[in-house]
Order: sequence, then structure tokens, then C-alpha cells
Amino acid sequence: MTALRGVGAALAERLARLGVTSVADLLFLLPLRYEDRTQVTSIGALLPGTRAAVEGEIQLTEIAYRGRRQLLSRVSDGSGMLTLRFFYFSASQQHNLARGTRVRCFGEVRRGPLGLEMVHPEYRRLREERVALEETLTPIYPLTEGVPQGRLRALIADALRQLEHTGPAELLPADAGLPAGMPTLREALDYLHAPPRGARLAELAAGHHPAQRRLAFEELLAHHLSLKLRKRALRTDSAPALADEPGLARRLIAALPFGLTGAQSRALAETETDLAGDAPMVRLLQGDVGCGKTVVAAAAAARAAGSGAQAALMAPTELLAEQHWRNFHEWFAPLGETVALLSGTTPARTRRSALAAIAGGEIRVVVGTHALFQEGIEFANLALVIVDEQHRFGVQQRLRLSEKGRRGGRLPHQLIMTATPIPRTLAMTAYADLDISVIDELPPGRTPVKTVVVPEQRRAEVVTHIVEACRSGRQAYWVCPLIDVSEELRAQAAEDTAARLAAALPGVRVGLVHGRMPAAARDGAMLAFKAGKLQLLVATTVIEVGVDVPNATLMVIENAERMGLAQLHQLRGRVGRGSAASSCVLLYRAPLSALARERLKVIRQSADGFEIARRDLELRGPGELLGTRQTGLAQLRVADLMRDADLLPRVQQSAERLLESHPERVAALTRRWVGGGERYGRVG
Ligand code: ADP
Ligand code: MG
Repeated sequence: MTALRGVGAALAERLARLGVTSVADLLFLLPLRYEDRTQVTSIGALLPGTRAAVEGEIQLTEIAYRGRRQLLSRVSDGSGMLTLRFFYFSASQQHNLARGTRVRCFGEVRRGPLGLEMVHPEYRRLREERVALEETLTPIYPLTEGVPQGRLRALIADALRQLEHTGPAELLPADAGLPAGMPTLREALDYLHAPPRGARLAELAAGHHPAQRRLAFEELLAHHLSLKLRKRALRTDSAPALADEPGLARRLIAALPFGLTGAQSRALAETETDLAGDAPMVRLLQGDVGCGKTVVAAAAAARAAGSGAQAALMAPTELLAEQHWRNFHEWFAPLGETVALLSGTTPARTRRSALAAIAGGEIRVVVGTHALFQEGIEFANLALVIVDEQHRFGVQQRLRLSEKGRRGGRLPHQLIMTATPIPRTLAMTAYADLDISVIDELPPGRTPVKTVVVPEQRRAEVVTHIVEACRSGRQAYWVCPLIDVSEELRAQAAEDTAARLAAALPGVRVGLVHGRMPAAARDGAMLAFKAGKLQLLVATTVIEVGVDVPNATLMVIENAERMGLAQLHQLRGRVGRGSAASSCVLLYRAPLSALARERLKVIRQSADGFEIARRDLELRGPGELLGTRQTGLAQLRVADLMRDADLLPRVQQSAERLLESHPERVAALTRRWVGGGERYGRVG
């Protein structure tokens, strides 16, 4: 690093902290955006809100006291007058900007009290008549602690010059399957660090330029390869082969009051094949809300128990953990298996005895929250880790639980369940370290939920629907989502709503659950609702994931216009779980923006999680549909999984080809883009 001019030990160390340890690394530190300083705009043509370069002569420079001391400099170029305003300045600056001085300045134009102005522009004095303008767009790099923009710009320009002949190494061979029309690595880097005058800034800002796509392709390829390698490495570990001689899984399925759907059977068969093998399974079980992932998980757990080993199911909320425990208890008790529940609210004595039985191996099936991997839980023989609604967990948490099961080099199997709809090619890239089973079918006999969008003024009318539902023996949810406020305020709102509804509905038994209630009260309400003793459950979004009460057929969601589509879809998935017709009422506060109207229309018209996610993406632009947190992917520098999704099939082909024909390049590629593993964080 110190090979570069002017880079001493101190700067080298600061750069190292940014992951830059070689001259070549510098080139992969890419600009966030660009500024066009290649042309001068006449002052008369300046537009407020834009950034521009202007040239002119100082007419007057003075210190003013307008609220606070400041330096004001008035510049004219014959077409108009511009004020430069400095709150921090030195005595020499006032002198430098003396009347008659010619300056070129660059900054954001805004409207000020004296007309157009720039606050703290960058400027230089022009001594000669003609001073060359920048030839290329000016890159703005991400803020890098202790390395100023100008310094970084110069360093990178130096690096580009120094590596003119040698590199950085082109790691994609001609037969790697790079899409046609993409520049070479060198061309792409040259372009991105110094785009020529006239480069399309909008295209660059959107990340659609071929130079960016070239790097995005390579980055996605590197990440995909590293996940594939991780999977390979994992498969060389061993895991307990679960034979389930007594056929516990088969008996659990046979005892269900329903038969599995074709999709469930397929997913279970794929899972069981893996579990019977002695390589650790890492399988993603994907399926829309209500498709019936839980029984598949239970059958897998039964297979572990039937093999004399242990299974642990981790749920993201207490509510969900309790519900799973109840289901599991019902399914496992007839098989003679005790199911333990471990959550943050388990009483100490129960917990102690459960821990002893888990450590001793007498309890083979354990359900819990993240409390499962936190403190001192020892498993005698953990062979299967199941994670429900995995988008609520980070990859790290999942891996930590799996590490708990490591015994003498043997790892437990993992089954990861998610309702997040992920398009297939995307899943295959972002989850290349996992195998995937999809449940793409709902249990038979479900009637689609009818969704209506209603302004808040018609609340009274909605309340009468609740009475009707309750009178015919059905149950209802009333969700007060109130986003962007504290848990405290949300709880308050839910309490108020429950009180008002109880007053308005004298014949209806109203219950309440929210995040601030004591666990026992919340469990009590949930259980009473499940048992049909409560008819209307007023809730915050704590019921968003997993809650399953098939007799509930009506859901009212307040402030629906402010919620994400994915969240609405999840919430709505709480009804329509039985055979009776269900409905969902989305209450909104008028007026609706055009976008909000469009979004509510999507949720009204579609019941398909994939379709909703796709439309959401179109309306919102790429977002957090697939947070990096939940995939095995570390932070991406150039690529964006959604924006660059069209590259993914090629990336997969390319990865196969490199692994087969150019294995020596794979390590260099992953080192360049993924780093030495520390980006994933170590497990432990
Ligand atoms: P999710 O995939 O959203 O976790 P659940 O596992 O909670 O869905 O299942 C939703 C509901 O469907 C539960 O009440 C469950 O008992 C029921 N169910 C699951 N599989 C079937 C099936 N094959 N036939 C009928 N009902 C089913
Ligand atoms: Mg579920």
C-alpha cells in the first residue's frame, strides 16, 4: 500500500480499516455518486436545488451578522449575481475573496434572502484567463473515516495510473459466460472512477450502466461461489443419520385429522431423504402463509425423536412459540413424547426441570424462542434444528443454534421455514448454501379471503359486521397497527380500541393482546380466543406471524394505508384458515395518495404472496423484500439482488463453469468481493 506516492503508515492503516490493503483494492472502492464539474453554468441559468459550477468576479466580500457571524461574497458573471455564504471562515479567506478576484465555485444552488446562493461552496481562484475545466465527472466516494474525499480521489487516480498495464487481474475467462455487451473489468473501473463528460448521470445513479452491471455480475458471481463453497464444505461434515425405526413420523402424520397436500408430501419426502443421510441437511422450506409448514416440521422432528435424537424448533415470538408448543404437544403426546417449551417467560422451576431433561436426553422435542440458544441449554443429542419464520432471525442466530448441536465433528440437520416469497432464481442465488423445498399449494377447502377497502368514517358499519360474525359462531380480529410509534403507544391504542369496542358491542366477549402485557395475561387471552371463549381479539401486530385460529373469519386492520404490503398479506393470512368464507376489512384514513390507493388495490385483488411481492417491488422500487440479513449474502457493494435479478441465471451458469474449468480463479474472486470470511462474522 505504501507503494503509492504519499501513503505513509498512518494512512495505510486507515485504509486497511476500510478493507483496502493493496493498490488493487483501492479500485474496488466505488463512488456513491458523481458531480458534473466539466462545464460552467452561467449564473443567470442556475436552478435552485441543482449542483453546478459557475465562474465570475467577486463584487463584494463582507462579514455580516445575520443571527450569526458569516462571510458573504457576491459573485457576478454578467448574467446574474450569486451569493457565497460561509459560516466557518478564516481571515485569509476574506482577503482571498477580495473584490475583483475571479473565482470558479462548485456547490448546491439554493434560494436565499439575497437571491440565489451557495453555502460553503468549493471554490478556487482563477489567476489566468482560461483555466481548464475537469475533463471527467467528479466521483464522490463513501465517507471514509480520516481519509478526505480529495485525498481518496487522488489516491485512486494514482492507483489507476499505476495499474495501467498490470491489472487488476481479470478473473473472468472468456468462456465464463459474461453477458454480451459488457466492458472488461479494466474498462468498467476506468469508467466508474472517472466517467467522461456527457456520461448519463441518471443511468449511473440507477445502477443500470453496463460498467456497473459488469461489476455487479462479478460481485454476485463471487458471492454465489462463496455460498456454494460453503455448502460443499458443510456437506463434508457429517450428521446423524435419522432412521426412525419405530416410524414415529409416519404415525404422527397418520393421526392428523387431515391428509397432507401433494406439496406438503413432496416437501416432507425431500426433507426425510436428507435426514436419513449422514450429511447435514440445510433445507429452506418456503411456502405462503397458511400452506401448512408446521406439520412438515413436526414430522421431521418426529423422525429425530423416533431415532432417539433431539429436535429443537425456534420461533420468533413468544406467542408463536406457545402456539407451536400446543400443536406439537397435541401431536406428540399420543406418541409418548413429551414436548418442552422454553421461552423468556418460562417459570424458573419449570425451566430448570426442562433443562435437566433436555440435557439428560429424556425430552427429545423442544420448542422455544431465541431463548433456546441463549443461556446454558445443553442438548444431549441435538440432531435437528428447525427455525420458523426465519426472516425474523439473522443467519448468525440460526448458525449459533446449529453449533449447539455440534458433537465430535457431527452437525445437526437444519430445516428453515419462511413465508417470504422469493422468486426462484433469486432464491437459488441468495440461498445457494441451502436446498429448497417449496409448498406451492394451500390445503383444500379454503375459501379465498374477501378483502374490502373502507374509509374510516364507515367504522360503525364495520362494527356491525363483527356482531354478525360473532352471532353466527365465528370470531374476529381487530388490528391496530399504528406504526412508527413506541410499543408503549401501540399498547395504549390497542387498549383504548378494545375498551371502545367492548362498550359498543355489549353482547360480544372482547379480548386484548399486545406486546406490553404480562405474558400470562397475553397467553390467557390468546388461549381463550383459540378456545372460542373470546369472540373478538383486539391486537397489535404481535399477531402478524403464525397465529392460527381457523374459526376466526373476519379481520379488521386499521390504518392499513400505512402498512407494508407484505405485512398486510401476513396479517390477512390469520383468517381464511378454515373452510368458512372469511373477509378482511382494510380501514384507511382519507385522503389516500395515488400510491397508497394503488397498493391497497394490489392487496385487495391478489391473495398470492409472490404476486403481491412482485407488485410491491414495482410500486416501491427495490427494497427490503430480501434483506441481506436473512440471506447468506454479506453486504453487497455494487450489486442489488432485486435490481440485478436478470443477471442471476447467468451468474449461476457462470459459477458452474468456473468451478469446473477454472477452479484456481474461484478463490481469487471470492477474496476480492467477499473477503476472508470476516464479513460473515464468526459463529460463536
Ligand atoms: P403456515 O405454513 O403459515 O405456518 P400452518 O402450518 O400454521 O401454516 O397451517 C395453517 C393451518 O392449516 C393450520 O390450522 C393447519 O393445521 C392447517 N393444515 C395444515 N395442513 C393441512 C392439510 N393438509 N389439510 C388441511 N389443513 C391443514
Ligand atoms: Mg407458520
